[in-house]
Amino acid sequence: MLRLLDLDEPPAFRVERPNGQSPYFLTCDHASARIPRSLGSLGVSAADLQRHIAWDIGVAGVTVKLADALDAFAILSGYSRLVIDCNRQPGIPESIVRQSETTRIPGNEVVTVEEAAARQQQLFLPYHNRIRTELEARRAQQRHTILISMHSFTPRFHQVPRPWHAGVLYNKDARLATELLRHLRAEPGLVIGDNEPYAVSDTTDYTIPVHGERRGLLHVGIELRQDLLATGAGQSEWAERLARAFISILRSGDTWCKF
Ligand SMILES: [Zn+2]
Repeated sequence: MLRLLDLDEPPAFRVERPNGQSPYFLTCDHASARIPRSLGSLGVSAADLQRHIAWDIGVAGVTVKLADALDAFAILSGYSRLVIDCNRQPGIPESIVRQSETTRIPGNEVVTVEEAAARQQQLFLPYHNRIRTELEARRAQQRHTILISMHSFTPRFHQVPRPWHAGVLYNKDARLATELLRHLRAEPGLVIGDNEPYAVSDTTDYTIPVHGERRGLLHVGIELRQDLLATGAGQSEWAERLARAFISILRSGDTWCKF
């Protein structure tokens, strides 16, 4: 097996608040723009590697701050989605993309079966196996778990401005999303998307369908607009806003859903 990571490189994921007591459980699939040294730059310019095509700008900071505010377990992927996307089923074309929007990814144009397997085994699977292990342990302890999948989106898509400050995402189970929408929309001045700018689906997502829906866990996807997360202050503002909403939802849990 090809070895992707040198011993001095960061691991495939990192965990914050491993002993967090909250039922909330945070995932951040696109937390990092890092590329393993062994893959060079994938042929992508340094400027493009800092764009959203490589990662979800700003959302790692919000995830860590939200984990602190809730005392919640959080897991963040360690490498760029351009290497392998942790929110796509391995093997489909969107898992290792040859082009992202209009940017070619030369290092992904010819990926052998062995190279694809190495990316899956050494980056994708450690991240998802850690999630699985944690969820199994919590179930064994009869702890309630509520999955929150954190993402960020670009202010414009193909030159068209997006009006939302944030989006609340779901697929088959809208219970938690409905509550979160209600809380966020109660704040004046915020435009909150209902399954906008994206909806969760079995083909365009992995984390919520596999870890949330299949386990029957309450869950929600969150998309935050990247320009609002450009500074630490912006990240704190959104972490605090989401923490208020999630704490309030938990307190009123009996009235809308049995955990
Ligand atoms: Zn994302």
